[in-house]
Amino acid sequence: MRRIIECGSVVPGCNFVSHGATDEDVLMEAAEHVRATHGVDHLSDPLKAKLRAAIRDVDETK
Ligand SMILES: [Zn+2]
Repeated sequence: MRRIIECGSVVPGCNFVSHGATDEDVLMEAAEHVRATHGVDHLSDPLKAKLRAAIRDVDETK
């Protein structure tokens, strides 16, 4: 099982998917992406909450 965040569920139209083993990993990667790609210097609490809400599990065996 891995955790993913589809950026498109926070930023419509974005195809980036963040992968990680834990919530913190996947959040950190997504935050990095949002900074680098969408120019968001400071991740606000509401944005962080949106990213956290977008975390999903994926089954790696598929
Ligand atoms: Zn994005």
